[in-house]
Amino acid sequence: MKDQHDVFIMIDACGWEIVQGRPFLQKLAPHRKRLKSVFGYSSTCVPSILSGRWPDEHHNWCYFIYDPENSPFRSLRALRWLPPAITSRRIFRRYLTKFVKVQLKFQGYFDLYNIPFKYIHLFDFTEKKSPLKPKGMNRGPNIFDRLEAAKVPYFVAEPTNPEEHNLNVLLADIESERIDFAFQYWAGLDGLLHMVGNDSPQIGEKLDHYERWITQVMDSAKKHYRTVKLHVFSDHGMANCDQILDLRAVIDPLGLEMGVDYAVVYDSTMARFWFLKPGVEEKITTALTTVSLGRVMPEAELRHYRAFFADGSFGQLIWLAQEGVLIVPSHMGERPIRAMHGYHPTDPQSYATLFSSHDEVPEDVTHIPHICHLMDAAVLRHTDKNQASTRPSSGPIAVAH
Ligand SMILES: [Zn+2]
Repeated sequence: MKDQHDVFIMIDACGWEIVQGRPFLQKLAPHRKRLKSVFGYSSTCVPSILSGRWPDEHHNWCYFIYDPENSPFRSLRALRWLPPAITSRRIFRRYLTKFVKVQLKFQGYFDLYNIPFKYIHLFDFTEKKSPLKPKGMNRGPNIFDRLEAAKVPYFVAEPTNPEEHNLNVLLADIESERIDFAFQYWAGLDGLLHMVGNDSPQIGEKLDHYERWITQVMDSAKKHYRTVKLHVFSDHGMANCDQILDLRAVIDPLGLEMGVDYAVVYDSTMARFWFLKPGVEEKITTALTTVSLGRVMPEAELRHYRAFFADGSFGQLIWLAQEGVLIVPSHMGERPIRAMHGYHPTDPQSYATLFSSHDEVPEDVTHIPHICHLMDAAVLRHTDKNQASTRPSSGPIAVAH
């Protein structure tokens, strides 16, 4: 039997509002806390949790950026001649995404989404490494760098594998007592919420499912470790999308040419613009002021939410939709989905949740990057223990080598 095991489980999109009024994890992790999320999508929320730092520090923010000189997608431009009946099909995009990911040796999450092949040579993709691996951040270290440095044996989920597979690998690692620390990542609830919305009866069923899995993990861990500490948390919430906005219908009539006058990435809830010629910024900004379903994010606000990039690398102007408004069509999808995240961090459905087995979460754990402080504390405990067990029991303490 080993001494202590720390289990961290991230359930993607298990937002504060979604678990309100539900008895989820009441027995296993009764200490529940509402956390503020980070401005952006999972592409920034997850790296913020794993590094304990903010987008303006780690530079893992939105996936696609305007950068024609460094675009790895130039060869895909040839596909622009294929009829849209083929290129806009999800199955075609899925196979091509897999092929491109292997060709370009991308280690993280990658999806071509709905970026038109006509313009794909204008863009670069910012998650070439996996934030779920050591040295996986765009800038600075993450928790896995610290686990490796401290030689703490750990489990981390492989998100390309099915959720149940990741559960079984974790259970095997606990039963063999191989690990002292676990980071589990389940993304199934996020996918379900996008499809069915946050008020579907399927959400409760999915949470029951997770509760059974977490019970299995805890039952097994308690047989093999004297103390087991559990933290379950999310990266953001999820808002139902009841309004569709065609933002292209506002920008296209301006007669500006993409890649010559301006560039834009239409995310699902944001539009990020780059201005390539004088006078274009004014035209686009004026057009955007006519759209009542969202607003331009002021620099001061982006700075406040730690998502301001002075070099404009992620966009020189960020337009954000109101909660519940979905940009369709966007570069993320041609068709509407039931629910989305990536709205303003203070919108009601944006808040994340932290469930803990022990009543010892410090007061200053208020935002999702602070979850990393809890993980750091766990690594430190195991490091001290490792050092204590390798230290000679009598005589002088060995000099550092
Ligand atoms: Zn999502």
